[in-house]
Amino acid sequence: MPDAEPDRGRLTVLSGPSGVGKTTVIRELRAHHPELWVSVSATTRFPRPGEVDGTHYRFVSEPAFDELVAAGDLLEWAEFAGHRYGTPRLPVEERLAAGTPVLLEIEPQGARQVRAAMPGALLVFLAPPSWDELVRRLSGRGTEPEEVITSRLAAAREELAAEPEFDETLVNTSVQDVVARLLTLMQVGA
Ligand code: 5GP
Repeated sequence: MPDAEPDRGRLTVLSGPSGVGKTTVIRELRAHHPELWVSVSATTRFPRPGEVDGTHYRFVSEPAFDELVAAGDLLEWAEFAGHRYGTPRLPVEERLAAGTPVLLEIEPQGARQVRAAMPGALLVFLAPPSWDELVRRLSGRGTEPEEVITSRLAAAREELAAEPEFDETLVNTSVQDVVARLLTLMQVGA
């Protein structure tokens, strides 16, 4: 008898405004669930201290990003605060075909594109407990100059407005609670 095809993995998108804590949630999730695969995005922004090429992002030049777009190699991409970010398509498709649950951590314009390209994807919006808390988190990161923070706050106002387009909203009051709810939504054992 031929081998049965594995069931396709589920694609989950975690989105929300910059500074809301998506990266912390993903870090916590990965620590306990190495069986989940988290996509590594390509970006034209420069690495922050401690960020490793190929692990946190693929850091690419503007022309290299142009090539990825022209070749249709990105599942989605968006411009955010003066830089471009995109999800390489092939690794996502390979993991899903192999039955692995896949997680994308992207901003809302990209989430919209994923919804159009893959209607079966689960779109989860991570919301801050309040606007003031988001301002505090974005300003307190300490890694960005003032104008970058201003531009990210402007983007955050628009990003918050995207919430009704998502399947689920999780309010980031506690990382542990968000991770537990996300695992339930992804149908992965806690
Ligand atoms: P940061 O520069 O803080 O790492 O990321 C800025 C924003 O870009 C965050 O909201 C992050 O979720 C989003 N982002 C990271 N990778 C991607 C991607 O591949 N596509 C899209 N659309 N957004 C991304």
